[in-house]
Amino acid sequence: MKFLAVLFILFSFVSSYASPAGAELIIINANVRTMASAQSKAEAVAVSGGEIVAVGSTKTIRSLADENTKVIDADDRLVMPGFNDAHVHFAAIGNIFSSVKLVETRTPEEFVQRINDTVRFLPKGRWILGSGWDNRSWIPNDPPSRDLIDAFTADNPVFVYNTDATAVLVNSKALEVAGIDKATKDPAGGRIFRDSSGEATGLLRGSAIQIVERLVPKDHMRNWPQVIEAASNYAASLGVTSVQDTHSDDLFILLLALDAQRKLKTRVYDCSNLADWRKFAAKGVQAGSGNPMVRNGCMKSFADDEMESTAELERDVIGADKAKLQVAIHAIGEKPNETALSIFEKAAKINGPRDRRFRVEHARNASDPDRGRFTRLNIIASMQPWLFFGENGTGSDDFKKIFEHKTLVAFGSDASMTDFDPIKGIYAAVTGKNAISVEQAVRAYTVGSAFAEFQENIKGAIEVGKLADIVILSDDIFSIDRSKIRNVRVETTIVGGKVVYQKDEKLKL
Ligand SMILES: [Zn+2]
Repeated sequence: MKFLAVLFILFSFVSSYASPAGAELIIINANVRTMASAQSKAEAVAVSGGEIVAVGSTKTIRSLADENTKVIDADDRLVMPGFNDAHVHFAAIGNIFSSVKLVETRTPEEFVQRINDTVRFLPKGRWILGSGWDNRSWIPNDPPSRDLIDAFTADNPVFVYNTDATAVLVNSKALEVAGIDKATKDPAGGRIFRDSSGEATGLLRGSAIQIVERLVPKDHMRNWPQVIEAASNYAASLGVTSVQDTHSDDLFILLLALDAQRKLKTRVYDCSNLADWRKFAAKGVQAGSGNPMVRNGCMKSFADDEMESTAELERDVIGADKAKLQVAIHAIGEKPNETALSIFEKAAKINGPRDRRFRVEHARNASDPDRGRFTRLNIIASMQPWLFFGENGTGSDDFKKIFEHKTLVAFGSDASMTDFDPIKGIYAAVTGKNAISVEQAVRAYTVGSAFAEFQENIKGAIEVGKLADIVILSDDIFSIDRSKIRNVRVETTIVGGKVVYQKDEKLKL
């Protein structure tokens, strides 16, 4: 037995030592910004078992490939850790794609483009609903037909109203689902438009609309598995490999199920309402419970100017913290920040020292002495540079001061309240008079947000042993003119070593 055990140990040592050879995926000829403290630049990365197994020169990494290795030649483009958005409302992001706005489309091409922009994020079978088109203002102004959209909507029924809801355009899939064919008669008070051969064109009027409308799922906006899948597809297209869902709904079970079906392309840390902390504590949930794809244990609440009493908030924070849950409080303005910090300070004093990582969501416009408190008490400022960008034309907050204070900062978007694109967030943080460096902004959107969710040991940097969550960008945001950063696009997104998005390719993988 002893001999076997030794053999086994030897074997596992050899196999783990040898694992980089035959890497699943390698990225070569790249301008790698690792965001790691030790080695900040490299040319190539190797991935195996969903993790980064080697970082180095193209020559060394190339030697780790065999005939099964996927090789990505980055052609000198920027390769960096995937973005980790520390503050989103994930279901709401998915619901952006639950209906298409077709108002003010000027041409049939524009109409087609808007539908295409939505369908590329939707799971197979999900309906595409929308309204607002008016072909009378199009050039040319012919009524639309299913031929415009069929080619890219084969898997999704389309049902889109015109501007005054008197007509609907549906695609072939919707006609098929509704059983409308050559033999179908016009219903009383309705018309199925037909081409010269008698086939339905997809245009329906009057009571004919209802033949399809009654099939549209009533729970369309609340079909959370489909809604979340759309959000995750969208995240992949923006290079967002992790999100922290600060919405109070509890999506944990649903997210686990989606992940089990391999439909999740984004790692999610799911926050819930602080008032429910006892329910989570009773189940033994603690900060960051779960697996590398889906985690919970983060409790979210609010502090605002109108609060008459903070006693209840204080009790909940102390209780949740004692149960080793993580607590995040939303605060915008001097008073709410002061309230949140005071409650956190008190809770830490009562419950004693531990690695608790209290967070203030937004942490906007805190007073200068309170900025010092963030640092002193190790409280995370979870900030969204793009959300408040443009309010005063000088950037979204006094990031310069905040970073001078050495505050622990995590960046995010607050989408769907605002644009989900992390590139815009970085652009907002590095332009204007309170700008910080691109390095600082990227760090807050990777290493910083990983720290905010207790994941800094496995996320946030391109380092051996960390999860292979990687993006390739069209341009080097570290060296181009800062004004041009907002136009930079994500070319490739990799989550756990798998390519989940490739520019110009259909997302359905
Ligand atoms: Zn929010």
